[in-house]
This record gives sequence, structure tokens and C-alpha cells, in this order.
Amino acid sequence: MAKGGYAGKILEVNLTSGKISKTSVDDETLRKFIGGSGLAAKLFLDRVSPQVAPLSPQNTLFIMTGPLQGTNLPGAGRFNVSAKSPLTNIWGEGNCGGTFGPELKFAGWDGIIIEGASDKPVYLFIDDDKVEIRDASDLWGKDSYETIDMVTDKIGGGRKVKVLAIGQAGENLVKYAAIIHDKADAIGRCGLGAVMGSKKLKAIVVRGRGKADIAMPGDYNKARRAALDVIKDSAVAQSMHSMGTDAALSLGMMTGDVPSKNWSLGENLEGSEALGGPAYSEKYLTRTHACYACPIACKRVVQVKEGPYKGEEQAGPEYETCCTFGTLIMNNDLAAVIKINEMCNRYGLDTISCGSTIAFAIDCFEHGLITEDDTEGVKLTWGNMESVFKMVDKIAQREGFGDILAEGSRAAAKKIGRNAADFAVEVKGLEPAMHDPRGFHGMGLAYAMANKGADHFEQIYFVEQGITAYPEIGLKEDYEGQTSEGKAEMIMISENLGMVCSSAVFCVFVIACLKVNDLVEFLRTTTGFGYSLGELMECGERVWLLKRGLNNLMGITAADDRLPKKILTPLDEGAAAGSVPDIESMRKEYYGLRKLNANSYPSREKLEGIGLADLARKIYTSGK
Ligand code: SF4
Repeated sequence: MAKGGYAGKILEVNLTSGKISKTSVDDETLRKFIGGSGLAAKLFLDRVSPQVAPLSPQNTLFIMTGPLQGTNLPGAGRFNVSAKSPLTNIWGEGNCGGTFGPELKFAGWDGIIIEGASDKPVYLFIDDDKVEIRDASDLWGKDSYETIDMVTDKIGGGRKVKVLAIGQAGENLVKYAAIIHDKADAIGRCGLGAVMGSKKLKAIVVRGRGKADIAMPGDYNKARRAALDVIKDSAVAQSMHSMGTDAALSLGMMTGDVPSKNWSLGENLEGSEALGGPAYSEKYLTRTHACYACPIACKRVVQVKEGPYKGEEQAGPEYETCCTFGTLIMNNDLAAVIKINEMCNRYGLDTISCGSTIAFAIDCFEHGLITEDDTEGVKLTWGNMESVFKMVDKIAQREGFGDILAEGSRAAAKKIGRNAADFAVEVKGLEPAMHDPRGFHGMGLAYAMANKGADHFEQIYFVEQGITAYPEIGLKEDYEGQTSEGKAEMIMISENLGMVCSSAVFCVFVIACLKVNDLVEFLRTTTGFGYSLGELMECGERVWLLKRGLNNLMGITAADDRLPKKILTPLDEGAAAGSVPDIESMRKEYYGLRKLNANSYPSREKLEGIGLADLARKIYTSGK
């Protein structure tokens, strides 16, 4: 029995009926799926039809913590949101830092399951055990920052509340709308802000006064102290603290990791110099910021003090945003990236999908597939930030051409027609993170196989980049980037570890400083479950197979495990010139290792053997 970690209850809210109730999960299920996205996928399998329309009331939003949230462990200040994605029409999830996850646990909840849809705007207020659905008519139409301020004022004094909110993009069902947390963090990927918008749920507000229980406090303190000592001396932690995630831009340009000009330019030194970590820190950084109890504090607070983008001190853009609104669209003005990051956060837009979809549109414009007649006079050219600002406005409001781009690059390419799909860089409908598989071939396999579409956090990408290694689970130190050999096994193991992290809702940057056994100790001492390294890695494998099976039930086949044309086209210059991942051979080997059939379905024996007999029944009774 779990002696700690879990609050023991999950909040259920039905916005159609207004019913508020609670449920719980048995210990065996908790031990097998841990929490976070793993438990959400299991609950989705049990409660929701895979055929559900993502923006219908029947789609269900799972906002989950894991057993570590609410403890003072480094890397545990996070939470996960999952649902069927309106952007990809398959399994969707996002993971976010800040303070909401711990606060939800302090309020006595392991998670929130939101079903149905309200017929008028509402927000959810959770004050420990007291839960209310409140009117949000005056908040509808406001941006996420205004909403967070207004709702915080409404609740008033006492312990400060933690807020999740959508902006106008979520209200307008932009397919890559984000959920914004306290003006600093975002659940960006997969359009889960639009799921909130479809339910007319403007915000979720939580205040908790309890504390997390620890099963084995003595061993827990020992494990925590040892990890803090390692983090203090870790070069990864020091780099993340001093330059944030944007440290990756300058270094990545030297290794072929950073995409430029919608993935068609292999070297952009001017861009990396103007947008990379050193310039960022020197010109705009005012202070660092951390998720709950994290000593690394990789988050940036910035201020543009002069010029056209002069503004207030605010949360700064991450590496991904510096690329999507920098190198990818050939903009070298970091102050403009800071401004557009604020704009996307206020509207509630995923900066990766939004910037990538605009880069796709610029490419289409350059190749004559669209003209100013299509874009209401907006001249979509490389580095033209005035046009980019206009287009972000149009996307969030679904005005004119923005309405087409609000559907994401795959759907927009279909609408534009002719060979527009050649310029759309996406896998399963999700625009990739800003790591180029031509520099690191394993990333290509990871993009092709990731269950939510091309995302970098489904696995621990630092391994292939040589930044970290986990010999204890077979991930070595010396992978060569530009080779496809040996990558199938590396990615499979790395994904299994990624699934452990997203189920424990543990930060991948912190695991990059530690060993997997540290995480085993954190989970063992917090929950009291007798986890071993082997059992934990099997949990990761189980969660990956569960999400794959869910996707198969949603229509995914081998034809979807692919890479876009741009990524399979060799570059002429830069560190990855002439190199392309051999996706066919990596995928073939990977299917064999994962025991996927030719149609990409996990075998019945594999599913039954790993404790997913219920999923096997659902897949194999439908005759696949
Ligand atoms: S490393 Fe950064 S993202 Fe991860 S928990 Fe710490 S502050 Fe948050």
C-alpha cells in the first residue's frame, strides 16, 4: 500500500451537469502507472472512447500530479495535462513547471478530471476540499495575464492562489492554443487550451493548505541531500542556471542541432550570436526564476528597457521560442522575440506550433503558393517581424488568413493545396521541437515514433547529444550524432525513461543532472512502494505501449511513423551538411525491439505480458 506521496483522491468535475465528485485509484494501478501522463492515459483508456471528437464535451481533460508533487525534491515542481488533441486528433499531453502541481497536492488532490462542457464561461475554484464552478462571463475575451490578475483579485486575501488560464486563442479554438500558468509557464503542446475553450472553462484556480506525506522520511532526506549535492556540482545545472535553456542555441549551431529558415538552412551564425544564451543574459536578463523547490532555477525573467519593444519585466522566452520566432523565420532581433513571447502567452498560443506554422506560411509565400491577396495584404517574408506580429494577432482571433493558420501547418497545407505539404514540417500533425534530426539521427526516430507527434520531451534527448549518460540502463556516453546505427535501441530505452519522468511528472533537466537510481529512490521513499530500477523502467515501457495502443485505437498506423520531406532533405552547409537520418532502417529495427507489428500495433502477447490485457482486448477484438 502507498504510505505516502499520493493524496488518495482525484477531483471529478462535470461541466455539463455541474456535478462535483471525487474518485480514487487502487494501489496496484498507482504502482504500475505512477501518476502524471501514465495514470492519465490509463484513466483515458478506462473512461473515454478513443473515437471522441477532441472539441466535444465528451473529450476529457486530465490535470495530474504524481507522487512527488508537493515534496521538496528538485525537479518535482511540475504537473501534467492530457486529453485527445484537437491539433493531431490523437493522444495529446503537455507538462509544465511552476507551482500549480504542488499546490493541487497541498489542496488534497492527486488530479482533476474535467468532463462535459458548460454553456456559459466558468472558472473552477478549488480551495482545499471546497470546490466551486463559478461564473466567468466577465473574464471571457480577456487575455491570460488579465484573467490571472482578475481571478486572483476576485479570490482576494489569504494564501495566494495558483492559476491556469486560457487567452483568446483557447476561446477561439485555435488548434494549438496553450494553457498559461501564472504568467510564467505554459502547457503549450497539442492544443489543450482549445479543449479548455471548448468546455467554456476559462481558468482553474487552486489554493491548498495541506502538505505531502512522505512514506520513509529518513531515507527520503538522505536521497534528497545526496541529489542536491550532485546538482550543486553538475555542469548541466550550472549551465542551465546561468543561461537557461537558450544556452543550447549557440552550442547547437555548432553541432547541426538548430533549424533555420524553415529547416532549409544549415548554418546561421548571425542568428545564434544574436539570439543565443550569452546575448540573452547580457542584454535582457534581470533575474532567474525556479519551479517549486528547484535549486537550478533555469527560468529567465527579462526586461526590454528601450526601443520599439520596450516593456515591463516578465517571463522570458525559452530556447524553443528563440528558434521558432528567431532562426526559423530568420529574425535576429531578440527584443522582438521577447515581445512575441509575451503576445503568445497573453493570447495563450504554443510558441513552437505558432512560430513553425508562420515559418511554413513564409515558405509558401516565397514559393508563390500564397500571395498578399490571400493574406489580406500581409507580406510574409523572412525576418519581417511587423508581418509576423500581424499574423499572430490574426491567428489568435481567427481573422482572415489567420483562420487557416490557426488549424496548424498540416491542415493549412491541405487548404493551400498544390505542393504546400512539402513546406509543412510536422509529424502526426504536431510541429517538431527545435532540434534537427540531420545533426542527431536518433532525434529523427524519436520524432517519428513519439506518441504525441514530433516532440523532444518524449525521451531524454541529452543522451544522444553526449550531455548525459545512464549506463545503469544501457544508455552510454559516446553516441555519434550523425549516424543512424544503434539509435533504435537508444531511443527505445530513452523513451521508456521519458515515460517514467512524465508519469512521475519529474523535470527532464533535473534527471539530466542525476542518475536513474536517484529517481528510483525518490519514488521508493516517497510512496513506500518497493520500486527497483527494473520495475520502474518497466513502468516506462508499459506507459509507452499504452499510449501507442490508444493511438492505434485512434487510427494511427505505420504510415504515420514518418518524417517530413524537409527533414529528409540534406543541407548544403553547416555541421550537419549532407547528413540525413536513415529513418527506414531505424524504424525497422525499432519495431522489432518494441514488438510492434507491420501496422505499428504492439503485439497481443507483449501487451498481456506487461499488464495491459484490457488494452489488448480493445485492440484485438476490433480485428487489427
Ligand atoms: S530545471 Fe528548470 S524547468 Fe526543471 S524544475 Fe528546475 S526550474 Fe523548473
